[in-house]
Amino acid sequence: LGAAARLYTDEDPLVILSSSTLKPTVSNSSSAWLIQFYSSWCGHCIQYSSTWKTLAQDVKDWQQAIGVAVLDCAQEENFDVCKEYSIKFYPTFKVHSCTEYYLQVQAVRQLMVNILQNHTRLDWPNHCPPLDPLSSEKLLPLLGQRSDVFTAIVVEEPDSYVGREVILDLLQYSGVQVKRALSTDRPLVESLKITTFPSVYLLHPNGTHTHLHVEKRLRFFFSSLLRTLPGVQRRLMSDSSSSSQVEALPHKQSPEIWREFDRSKVYTADLESALHYLLRVELATHSTLEGEELKVFKDFVTLVSKLYPGGGSVVKLMETLSDWLLSLPLQRIPYQAVLDLVNNKMRISGVHLGAELRWVGCQGSKVGLRGYPCSLWTLFHVLTVQHDAMPTALENTGLEGETAPVLQVMRRYIRTFFGCEQCGRHFEQAAAASMDRVLDREQQVLWLWNQHNMVNYRLAGSLSDDPLFPKAPWPSPSLCASCHEEKSGVHVWNQDNVLRFLRHHYGASNLSPTYSL
Ligand code: FAD
Repeated sequence: LGAAARLYTDEDPLVILSSSTLKPTVSNSSSAWLIQFYSSWCGHCIQYSSTWKTLAQDVKDWQQAIGVAVLDCAQEENFDVCKEYSIKFYPTFKVHSCTEYYLQVQAVRQLMVNILQNHTRLDWPNHCPPLDPLSSEKLLPLLGQRSDVFTAIVVEEPDSYVGREVILDLLQYSGVQVKRALSTDRPLVESLKITTFPSVYLLHPNGTHTHLHVEKRLRFFFSSLLRTLPGVQRRLMSDSSSSSQVEALPHKQSPEIWREFDRSKVYTADLESALHYLLRVELATHSTLEGEELKVFKDFVTLVSKLYPGGGSVVKLMETLSDWLLSLPLQRIPYQAVLDLVNNKMRISGVHLGAELRWVGCQGSKVGLRGYPCSLWTLFHVLTVQHDAMPTALENTGLEGETAPVLQVMRRYIRTFFGCEQCGRHFEQAAAASMDRVLDREQQVLWLWNQHNMVNYRLAGSLSDDPLFPKAPWPSPSLCASCHEEKSGVHVWNQDNVLRFLRHHYGASNLSPTYSL
């Protein structure tokens, strides 16, 4: 089978099994498995693949307790194993080996919860947390007690799945324990003065306790908020099987001073640091620029000179650089000449770009985390929003003919110069798959937002995930509650509100000059 016929790829948040990996994966596994046996030529399977991917994404954080997998019975190497498992129709869903289902995301997710909860103790997956409700006798004595961790009690109607889903959502996080209780437990409900369900009651490590305020009583809101409590962090995938002991607040190992900042702002210091690094470090590895490289560089400089909102001296530098590049008849320029200009060797008044890295919104809790890639995303988000706000800014630049000029320039920059080659390959794949569907400036803003979230999903829990800034769907409910909704029990974005939020967040008026040189 060619790659084009495959319904699932390694990029999808699930495990692709084959005859040689099926048994080693599921037997003696510390987790349960939900496996879809499909056939890549079956029309239903093709249609259902997007639902299955949505489900896998939705329960990605549950994987220590229950994993989602697929096996393609149309591949010759899998013929025997599908026969052994008696797969006669596609798709067939098996929980290790039992019943067949063909269901929507919410129903499968609830089925997964039931499977986990109804496992007999003997074959209980090692990593499955207790999912049964606790009684007021167990919970009320915890009030006022000090602890190393937060305890969140989800109090809900007996037929609600929210509590169990939130428990599983937080499975990979340390610093918080989630328990559930039922609305029918009168002493508990009365003591905690809970009148609406589901609710989360939060016991703080210092012994105080309060209601957790959420804008919407949805699983996504509860889980997102609990993940952002102080000291709560995702265990890295490599040590996810280690004890559930809570680590202390991550200390910032950076030799730099920590700069306090507001996550709802964008800092010009990050944008300037991005340009400093890009111009003086990333591009400086190219001793000369010619041909395609020179064109990509010129377009990048033009774009920034026209759309950069954050400060006169940077714009002046980019304009000077752009004029200089356009006036040069040369097909090939030594990069040192660009550096001389960037460093203002010509002493042109008003031209300046800070010559040090000052990460603020892009600070990492350790050296090597966040920094430049974070600032590059930020810069391009700002440029898409700026282009949306100033439709005519690119007139007479040669870029105005492109439908999504900011994305096109970004794509070419990433492909040609971005130091992370693998990132460039991923981004190029995504651009080739869907960038041509972007038809206007609004879609340009949203495409980049969506693409960035795809990368966040993929990298969550990886080694580049900073525990202080875990990669997660963005904006979080605390940044934009109206961006989030639920449809048939599945989290969905309200794209109109996301666009409104992005325009504000990455707009010129939300740029903070604090820490800027
Ligand atoms: P970042 O993901 O860098 O995000 C920076 C800031 O942007 C966040 O703090 C948040 O305020 C905001 N933000 C987050 N999500 C969104 C969103 N959806 N829309 C708008 N704003 C948002 N690393 C890899 O390991 N593999 C890759 O394949 C890879 N591909 C990359 C492709 C590109 C084009 C770029 C620029 C970077 C890529 N990286 C990749 C790096 C990775 O995406 C992160 O930039 C890096 O790990 C630093 O992460 P961070 O925590 O600072 O957050």
